[in-house]
Amino acid sequence: MHGGRVHRARRRRSWPRLTGDELGPTTVWITGDQCTPRNSALRGLDASRTVVLMIESLADARRLPYHKRKLVLIFAAMRGFADDLRSAGWTVDYYEERDNDEAPLAEHVARYGPRRIRTMMQSEYGVDTRLRALADVHGCEFETTEHANFISTAAEFERLFARGQKRVTMETFYRKMRVKTGILMDGAVPAGGAWNFDAENRRPPKPGMHFPPEPRVPLGNHARDAIALVEKHFASHPGEIGNFDIPVTRAGALAYADDFFRSRLADFGPYEDAMLAGEARLYHSRLSAAINVGLLHPLELCERAEGAYRAGAVPLASAEGFVRQLIGWREFVWQSYWRTMPEYRTRNALGADLPLPAFYVDGETDMACQRDAHRTIRELGWAHHIVRLMVLGNFALLAGVEPQTMTDWFWYMFVDGYDWVMVPNVIGMTLHADGGLIGTKPYAASANYIDKMSDYCGGCRYDRKKATGDAACPYNALYWDFIARNERRFASNPRMALVVRNWASRDAAVKTAIRERAATLRETLRAGGRF
Ligand SMILES: Cc1cc2nc3c(=O)[nH]c(=O)nc-3n(C[C@H](O)[C@H](O)[C@H](O)COP(=O)(O)OP(=O)(O)OC[C@H]3O[C@@H](n4cnc5c(N)ncnc54)[C@H](O)[C@@H]3O)c2cc1C
Ligand code: SF4
Repeated sequence: MHGGRVHRARRRRSWPRLTGDELGPTTVWITGDQCTPRNSALRGLDASRTVVLMIESLADARRLPYHKRKLVLIFAAMRGFADDLRSAGWTVDYYEERDNDEAPLAEHVARYGPRRIRTMMQSEYGVDTRLRALADVHGCEFETTEHANFISTAAEFERLFARGQKRVTMETFYRKMRVKTGILMDGAVPAGGAWNFDAENRRPPKPGMHFPPEPRVPLGNHARDAIALVEKHFASHPGEIGNFDIPVTRAGALAYADDFFRSRLADFGPYEDAMLAGEARLYHSRLSAAINVGLLHPLELCERAEGAYRAGAVPLASAEGFVRQLIGWREFVWQSYWRTMPEYRTRNALGADLPLPAFYVDGETDMACQRDAHRTIRELGWAHHIVRLMVLGNFALLAGVEPQTMTDWFWYMFVDGYDWVMVPNVIGMTLHADGGLIGTKPYAASANYIDKMSDYCGGCRYDRKKATGDAACPYNALYWDFIARNERRFASNPRMALVVRNWASRDAAVKTAIRERAATLRETLRAGGRF
């Protein structure tokens, strides 16, 4: 959660450095996505002279209409983590269910008189700015330690740009991370002799696929209390809490991960891009929410994946596919975010300006792929990567939905959503609003791709083969209209040139009909209508 959109320059105030007793007790402020046993802000501190501060701020949770499940996860994880810290001998000053964080902070300062507030690096730009300002109000020195839930450093990332490059591909960065961590490496060469098994990992779903049952996640007291809290204060927020099944403790998250490695990882690789109506998860780990809150560390998960491969339990393509997501994509978007914020969040290279389509609010649409995606999100606060990218994101890209609106929507509707991960994934990867910094080409696709990778189209009222007429799949006209609108820009992109030529070679009357259909669809969306 945590709001605060774009903030200007990071203010670094220097205070005279105090030492020893002059400092008074140190306050370590732990925020909702820092529930990691590796929290670096606690490192090297004397528990007898340290107080951990944790605040549940309702105002913070109201900044955007966050999915109810996400709020339950954060409040429950915070309470459980506070228990763990107390058991480990730390003093925890915990403020439950408070209107905001200003008043509890003032109470805390009055009670403990800290001169220094230390926090692990915040994952979100806006929260970092805000905490600095709050420390300032109380005249406290503000100190941050490195983020413990990532394995790359800003310096490593920066070195890749050293020769004046404007952009660095994820693949280049990923290979560096493989070498750095030694994950799936045989000495200096990648296991199996290749860095990338993507070509083996694009299988469509097949009839009669079998999926293991969901592991049972027992509800502890903290999850039960957090559900009651969310029902009480956030009843109007989107999402369902029934059958809450997100692990909120480290033990629960480890058990959920065990189940993934045992029963899903082997098939993760080949079917990672496949989509099926009514089957949200397929072989995905569904661990992102637990990782982003700090309950699991990406490296421990990569080591488990490698261990499963070395033991002969899973194919290399599956282990590599999973590792690539974690030490490749996750680290890459993290570093990209901090290298480019706050300006990056405002980018809109394609000039997209449509409002959020009405069915992104209530899920009411005749498009079978969209309907299934919104139902899944309502129920779980989660959908797998290809549903996010190629159903929800692709539609927004083709229709031209305004990037900041779309980023906020993804941020508040997903249990794993945070500014640091949404901004590069939505502004960059999905909407190409950064002009090609994160991805070399837009992930734009017609119904053809969705039909190939899913079983949605067979049960849809729209015809996946048609681009014009009322029965035609909306993705098709919007796809070609998107190419037409951006023809000049994409003509010089080697990865888009072929499709631009394809469009240019079409019959003029066909082009006109497609563009008219797209204009009608876009006008309907602009007017708050649906189809
Ligand atoms: C539009 C859009 C929005 C997204 N928003 C988020 C978000 O808010 N939070 C989030 O954690 N991921 C986000 N992702 C990335 C990815 O879709 C999710 O991490 C993944 O679907 C979570 O499900 P999983 O745990 O089963 O992942 P798996 O498919 O099992 O992958 C394993 C892990 O790799 C990491 N990962 C994979 N891809 C990415 C990526 N592109 N960026 C960052 N981490 C990645 C996640 O930690 C994930 O748990 C987004 C992707 C898109 C296209
Ligand atoms: S026909 Fe079009 S709208 Fe319907 S499911 Fe297929 S891609 Fe989605």
